[in-house]
Amino acid sequence: MLKIKNLYAGIDGKEILKGINLTIQPGELHAIMGRNGSGKSTLANVITGRDNYEVMKGSILFNSIDLLGMSPEDRALSGIFMSFQYPVVIPGVNNTYFLRAALNAKLKHQGMKEINAADFLRLIREKLKLVKMDEKYLNRGVNDGLSGGEKKHNEILQMLTLEPALSILDETDSGLDIDALKIIANGINNFRNNDRSFLAITHYPRLLEYMKPDFIHVLIDGEFVKSGDASLAFELEEKGYSWLEA
Ligand code: ADP
Ligand code: MG
Repeated sequence: MLKIKNLYAGIDGKEILKGINLTIQPGELHAIMGRNGSGKSTLANVITGRDNYEVMKGSILFNSIDLLGMSPEDRALSGIFMSFQYPVVIPGVNNTYFLRAALNAKLKHQGMKEINAADFLRLIREKLKLVKMDEKYLNRGVNDGLSGGEKKHNEILQMLTLEPALSILDETDSGLDIDALKIIANGINNFRNNDRSFLAITHYPRLLEYMKPDFIHVLIDGEFVKSGDASLAFELEEKGYSWLEA
């Protein structure tokens, strides 16, 4: 589904990613761990095509299509979703309206019929239950006045509504209490299937305990220095990162 080859990228002329290789097959959940500043969010932003990030070298293919030649909008429409480390607040834009517009843009892109307001309300109520969110959030501005944890719930609500093929979760677990973490992990787990892939950036083995990643990659100074199965998370918790540093 996603194939990153020898990727060098950065921002403001500063090289941050130094030769990233990563292949994610349909149905797989890959986790990225690493210290603050190692380039995790940069990788997520380069995949989604966020403004100001530059690719110096390498390629990213998404379902065999050259992703780097596509606009951020087209990447989203073709099935790439990102939950932000710092979710964006859009005051004055009603959350329900926003979610329906986003879903309809995707349906239209796929040549499918748009969903009307009444049907969407039924759909979104089901999704709200999955992340145990109150209906009152539907009428707020997008993430407006939400606590850090509530914003993360809202990000997962967006994911469940848009049903992306590839979900990139940038520290979706940070700032969550244990109960919230379980709800979020459950929401993601129930959404997993053989066609959907995930790239989860996290600092905490606890999330990975609930989510069972297929692979874990350790990013240090813009390079993957080690990859392994789920057990690597616990090894890192015990030993930290210094044993992997050159
Ligand atoms: P992580 O998500 O792993 O904590 P980031 O990808 O956010 O790391 O950042 C990687 C490096 O890029 C850090 O050293 C950070 O200071 C630097 N960086 C991030 N944004 C900018 C920017 N706008 N200009 C220059 N350097 C930046
Ligand atoms: Mg980050």
